[in-house]
Amino acid sequence: MSFFEIIDPAFGKFVLGNAPVKPIATGFDWVEGPVWFGDLNCLLFSDIPNNRIMRWIPGVGTSVFREPSNFSNGHTRDRQGRLVSCEHGGRRVTRTEFDGSITVIADSYEGKRLNSPNDVIVASDGAIWFTDPHYGIATDYEGHRSEQELHCNVYRVDPSGTMQAVLTDFNCPNGLAFSPDEKKLYVADTGRMHSGDPQHIRVFSVGEDWRLSGGEVFHAISPGCADGMRLDTDGNLWSSAADGVHCIAPDGHVMGKILVPETVSNLCFGGRGKHRLFITATTSVYAISLNRSGTL
Ligand code: MG
Repeated sequence: MSFFEIIDPAFGKFVLGNAPVKPIATGFDWVEGPVWFGDLNCLLFSDIPNNRIMRWIPGVGTSVFREPSNFSNGHTRDRQGRLVSCEHGGRRVTRTEFDGSITVIADSYEGKRLNSPNDVIVASDGAIWFTDPHYGIATDYEGHRSEQELHCNVYRVDPSGTMQAVLTDFNCPNGLAFSPDEKKLYVADTGRMHSGDPQHIRVFSVGEDWRLSGGEVFHAISPGCADGMRLDTDGNLWSSAADGVHCIAPDGHVMGKILVPETVSNLCFGGRGKHRLFITATTSVYAISLNRSGTL
């Protein structure tokens, strides 16, 4: 059984011949939002329909970290190491403080409620960037069905707390990630899952004062979509897909694939040296060790 597919020979150096794609936790309904805590030696992830955040500890196993979780989805850590979370149910982005209290980062824009924040990243200046598609308010499965008040935008909350819609021409913005030098921002548009709606990753140039320009299509994942993505230290983009995780070079060509038996939603690098890829995929979480290091 092969755990990967090499398309560009250079990808052969990224994988280890004897490292498996290993299920490390299973029995969930739809998992997303993996985030690694090296200091605590654990992975947190969302089991969205079951309204809980789970915690996996190597050698110990999986337990509930937070329930209810307000149907949390994507997570990341800020530059101080605090957990930052998107909540469908709360229609907000929150930060969990060191004492366990919750601070609301964003829940409305120009007097209207956010839709259902989906994925979040934190830049080196501490600003929080997140996507706000409608998926978590479209049904009661992954949140609370309710009225959409805002277009599905990408927002930036700067370190002073000022919030701005920075990308407003998306159908359904979903996964997002910076290049290691933060000169490029990748944002996936996963559309409304209707035929003809956009299903691709766009790339923006990040200029002075974090202003964005460009926005051309970088790559269209097939099969599946770029629900979640992360960059390795050389600037290769690792994206979710229906058949696993695709590794895409900075010029947009697919270098290779990690094959996963369930549809992948999100991924993150973690473990010692950030060379282990944690993959949330439908009912399970998988991990594979790579000959690569990831960024945040
Ligand atoms: Mg997502």
